[in-house]
Amino acid sequence: MMIDPAQVFIDGLGGDVTPRTGHYRKTLREMEGMYQDAAAWAAATAETDSLTYEVKEYRQEGADLFFGTTTMYPGKVGDEYYMTRGHFHIRDDMGEVYYTQSGLGVLVLEDRAGETREVAMSAGSVAFIPPGWAHRSINTGTEPLVFVWVVNVAAGNDYAEILERGMRRLVVEENGVPVVRDNPSYR
Ligand code: ZN
Repeated sequence: MMIDPAQVFIDGLGGDVTPRTGHYRKTLREMEGMYQDAAAWAAATAETDSLTYEVKEYRQEGADLFFGTTTMYPGKVGDEYYMTRGHFHIRDDMGEVYYTQSGLGVLVLEDRAGETREVAMSAGSVAFIPPGWAHRSINTGTEPLVFVWVVNVAAGNDYAEILERGMRRLVVEENGVPVVRDNPSYR
């Protein structure tokens, strides 16, 4: 099957993808159980819900690659910054690329052998995520963190493992700056 080439515009400050073929949002209420400070999460979601991040994508039927943006809003739950759910790829032979457009953040990675890594995210920085590494992005700044991701359509996102046991490292604010810490509730 032949697939048509295309030109797609990306707004590096707002994260819009034009044209786009898909879009989803994650609110703080949908992140139940993912933050260390359950009381702070309950207080923050009791009366209102907040948009924490959204994902916009461009995909063509039958193509091998697709891409899009993740726009992460600034905020914290307790001392822990807003973050994505985090995932392994279902296909452990497929990696991903994250190209930061604006904002400040940290990409935390870990493999199943227990190795952990962090890659700083700022405009112009490209994070190479090799196959087999779980990844979660965290907005440590005061502005939206916007990055472009490119991945194989067959890679698939497996969220269950990280939902179940968390990630080994977390990023918290300490004395006004982001610090990477061991996760005390990692199972
Ligand atoms: Zn991924």
